[in-house]
Amino acid sequence: MSEREREWCEVCDFVAVRRPDHGERVVDIEATQRRLGERLDDGRMRVLRADVPLADMMPLAEADLKYTIVLFARCETCGTTWFHGLCIRGRPVHKPVEDGAEERWPWEEVPARELWAS
Ligand SMILES: [Zn+2]
Repeated sequence: MSEREREWCEVCDFVAVRRPDHGERVVDIEATQRRLGERLDDGRMRVLRADVPLADMMPLAEADLKYTIVLFARCETCGTTWFHGLCIRGRPVHKPVEDGAEERWPWEEVPARELWAS
C-alpha cells in the first residue's frame, strides 16, 4: 500500500520514531508505542479496531503465538488512519493507510489471554 499525499500533522506525524539498523531506517517500537499511547490516552487519536489494546501488543508478540498483531488508529486532528503492526518474523510497521483499511484487514482470533498475559 503506498503512502498517500498528506499534509504534515502535528499530532500523528510525530508518533513514529525510527532508528538506523544495518543501513535502513526501522521503526523503534518502544518509543513509537510510547508516543502512540500518549495520543490514545489523551484522545488526540483513537483506536478504530485492534487485536488487543496497545499495551498488550508486545506481550502477545513475545509469546510467539500469533503471527501478526495489529492496531488501527485514527488521528482526530487530520483524520488519517494509521496502521500499527507487529510481526513475529518481520519488522514493526507504522504507516498511514486508506480510510476503512481496518474493515478490510483479515482479522484472526487472538489466543486466549491467559496463554500470554503476565
Ligand atoms: Zn494527524
